[in-house]
Amino acid sequence: MKNGRRCPDSDADIGRETMTKIAFIGLGNMGGGMAANQARAGHAVAAFDLSPSALERAASVGCAPVGSVAEAVKDAEVVITMLPAGPHVLKVYSEQIVGAAPSSALLLDCSTIDVETARKVADLAKGAGYAFADAPVSGGTAAADAGTLAFMVGCDEVDFARVETALAPMSRIAIRAGDHGAGQAAKICNNMLLGISMLGTCEAIALAEKLGLDPERFFEIASKSSGQCWSVTSYYPWPGPVPTAPSNRDYQAGFAAAMMLKDLKLAQDAAAKSGASTPLGAQAEALYALFDGIGHGGRDFSAVLQLLRGRLSELDV
Ligand code: NAD
Repeated sequence: MKNGRRCPDSDADIGRETMTKIAFIGLGNMGGGMAANQARAGHAVAAFDLSPSALERAASVGCAPVGSVAEAVKDAEVVITMLPAGPHVLKVYSEQIVGAAPSSALLLDCSTIDVETARKVADLAKGAGYAFADAPVSGGTAAADAGTLAFMVGCDEVDFARVETALAPMSRIAIRAGDHGAGQAAKICNNMLLGISMLGTCEAIALAEKLGLDPERFFEIASKSSGQCWSVTSYYPWPGPVPTAPSNRDYQAGFAAAMMLKDLKLAQDAAAKSGASTPLGAQAEALYALFDGIGHGGRDFSAVLQLLRGRLSELDV
C-alpha cells in the first residue's frame, strides 16, 4: 500500500491510479507530444532532454522540466525513453537509468533501435531487477500529438498489462509482439514493408503517367483493386486523392525520408545478422540512400515519387 492506495508496481494498475510519477527522457518531435499526453492524463511528468528548447516546450504543456536524467528518474514509477538511436538508448540506460531509478519502476523504451541493442538493454535492466519493455511506435508526430500511436511491445508476458496501462494515454493500441526485442523486430519488419510498398506505389504511378493514365484515376482503381495498400489508400504520393497525405503540402513534414532510411538500414542489418533474404528491402534502402544523398532526406518519404518520375526539380521550387 502507498498512501492508503494499492502500490501500483505490485499489480497491473499503473495508470489506473489517479496519478503516476513518470520520468520522460527525450522530448523531440515524438517524445514532446507523448510526454504532453501523459501530463494531460493527470500524471506527474518529470521531463528531461539535452535541448533547452525541448524542455521549454515540455514545460508549456504541463510537464516538470528537470536538469538531468538522474533527477527525472529518482522516484519514478514509470520511465519512458524516446531517443534517436541504439547508442543513445544503451548509454542512457547503462549510465543513467539502471541503478538510479527505483527497482520497482517500469522501464519503457519507445525509440526505434536495433533488436540486438534492445535485448542488451533488457538484459541489463532485468539483471538489476526492473520490468522492461521495448515498445517502438507506428504513427508519426500527428499521432504522437493526438495520443493515437500504435505500440509494438517486447516484454515478459507477466508485465504486459502494466505496460499497456502505462502506454494508454499515448496510444490507440498496444500489441505484445513477444519477448524482449520482439517489439523492435515488428517495427523493423513493418517499416521495411512500408518502404517497399511506397516505392511500388510510386513506380506504378510513374508508369501510369507515362502510359497516359491519369494518376488520380489510377488511385480510384488501385484503391479498390488488388494493388490496394496503405501507401495507396492513406498516403497516396500524388496530390489530390488523399487530402491528408504530405503530397498535398509539397512533401513537407510527415515521415522524413531520412527516418525511413534509418529503419531500412536497421532491417538490412538485422537481415544480414539473421541470414534472412530481403532483396526488395535492400533495393529500398539503396533508393532511399540515393534520395537522402542528393539532399532530400528532410522531405516526406513519399516524395521519392519525384525521383522515379525524373522530376526532382519539382522538389526544389
Ligand atoms: P528527435 O531527434 O526529434 O528527438 C530525440 C530527442 O532526444 C532530441 O530532442 C534530443 O535532444 C534528445 N536526446 C538525445 N540524446 C539524449 C540524451 N542523452 N538525454 C536526453 N535527451 C536526449 O527524434 P524523434 O523524431 O522524436 O524520434 C525519436 C525516436 O522515435 C527515434 O528512434 C525515431 O526513429 C522514432 N520514430 C520517429 C517517428 C517520426 O515520425 N519522427 C515515427 C516513429 C518512430
